[in-house]
Amino acid sequence: MISFHSIPLLIVSVLFLLLGVYVFAQRRGSPGNIGYVLWCYLTVHWHFTWAIIYSVNDLRTAELLNKIGYSGIIFLPIAYYDFAVSFVRKKNGNLRVLVPYLIGLAFLATIWMGNHFVVGVQKYWWGYFPNVGNWHPYYLCFLTYLCWDGLKVLSKEYRRETSILRKSQLKHVIVACACYMLAAIDFIANYGVPVYPFGFIFTFLSLLIVVRGISQHQLMGLSLVIRKTAIYSVVTASLTAIYFIIATQLAKLLEGVSGQANFWSAAVAAVVVTALFQPMMNRMRNLLDEKLFGDWLGDMSRGVVHEVKGPLASISLPAELTLMDLEDIEKGKQDIRALLPAMKERMRGILNKTGEAAERIEALYELAASRGPSAGAVSIHDIIQGGISAAKNVLGSANVPLVLDVPQGLPPVRGSVKQLEIAVGNLVKNAVEAMNGSHDPVRLSAYEDKKHIVLSVRDTGSGIGDQDQAHLFDPNFTTKGAKGMGLGLYLTEKIIREHGGTITVHSEVGKGTEFIVKLPKLSEKNSFAA
Ligand code: ADP
Repeated sequence: MISFHSIPLLIVSVLFLLLGVYVFAQRRGSPGNIGYVLWCYLTVHWHFTWAIIYSVNDLRTAELLNKIGYSGIIFLPIAYYDFAVSFVRKKNGNLRVLVPYLIGLAFLATIWMGNHFVVGVQKYWWGYFPNVGNWHPYYLCFLTYLCWDGLKVLSKEYRRETSILRKSQLKHVIVACACYMLAAIDFIANYGVPVYPFGFIFTFLSLLIVVRGISQHQLMGLSLVIRKTAIYSVVTASLTAIYFIIATQLAKLLEGVSGQANFWSAAVAAVVVTALFQPMMNRMRNLLDEKLFGDWLGDMSRGVVHEVKGPLASISLPAELTLMDLEDIEKGKQDIRALLPAMKERMRGILNKTGEAAERIEALYELAASRGPSAGAVSIHDIIQGGISAAKNVLGSANVPLVLDVPQGLPPVRGSVKQLEIAVGNLVKNAVEAMNGSHDPVRLSAYEDKKHIVLSVRDTGSGIGDQDQAHLFDPNFTTKGAKGMGLGLYLTEKIIREHGGTITVHSEVGKGTEFIVKLPKLSEKNSFAA
């Protein structure tokens, strides 16, 4: 009979098994994949053996399981180290990990050849658990060294790396590894202290972080199209299992208190747990939506409407004029030769605008799919020109001058020119719209500091109240009624963040607003490499 305490371990085992098989099947040769697959297998080995050890009643079986379990566990930090080094060096099979593997084999021998590493088991309230011998602390030192050195290698690479995509990948790897390390909490019970080994929570979180890294940043060369429903099913099934266990345990407890087994204790338990369970379930779904998937479809479709509205609006007028001209020619009112140059000019304009709309859709698709912006160097002057052209309609109809203060020769930034144009265009449009009929200029300036290109868009318009400032970057937040969509700043912030930058706002009601965008600049050396 499977013990209640084994269930979370079994669930985490199955999830790691699935992830391991996926990573193995997809891209065997990618740097870090072998180490990670081994790491997954060893995690399954650990969780699964301990799930059984908690459920057995026989001492000898528990002692055997202890040795089997530890035979895998000793290699866990080595597999992690192998993964970290291969990921950074961008190749599998590094000599640097050979020595740890050899030390691992030596530890393995001590497990099976004496009582120095593991010494039997002891029974805690959750089941049997390994006791360790006097050589185990040496293993802990070895493990600490590998954890520390692995993190050092990863964080050094993170600081050195300039590609935004790879930086995001490294960030996920570092957080996932650090999270997994917290599972070392389980070692406490090895030393006779009855601390419940809840390390599986950290291994589970680390798995979620890796899945996120794969789905959003092509970690280990993988891209995972996770079916929302598949993930929901796994999470719902896990939570439902936990729900039943809590409900039955609570029913038992109530029976103990009332002294009799009856229908009411089960019913009360079910009601209490359901009351707690439903909100938890909803929160979990929201969290999954937000952290794992983002509102991909929502972002994408609303973003497209927001960004394509402008180019489409400027297509309809010239198209209408051309149609009227054609009708006049048909009726013989106008001469085709006289109208031809104007019609050609308008058609060119329409073509430009449709091209622009298509490019914006592509840029938004890139953004919504979180493929990471492309790695090319982009001139800040091109971004500003593109941004101004995106805001041309609004600038023209409000009759607000734009004053530029952009020195020549600013170093480039890395990323997608189309996405950054959308960001700058939105800031300029908002600044112009905030002028409320005044014809004072909006100022756009750029300069470089030590590490960034800093862009500032400043207006002397309505300003933004403190309460509104807190919601500026929320999707759908607008004070413009039916005219606004509340998406400009949401998209802008997302774009800047994806480019490794920041956006801040300084505003005073009645005086005006300044948005400051900082983007990591590319040094000359890096821009040649790009
Ligand atoms: P929208 O322009 O469709 O309303 P945005 O996300 O671009 O959506 O802007 C959200 C809100 O932020 C605006 O409705 C406006 O209230 C405020 N806002 C943005 N920029 C400025 C600015 N420069 N001055 C005053 N208010 C601003």
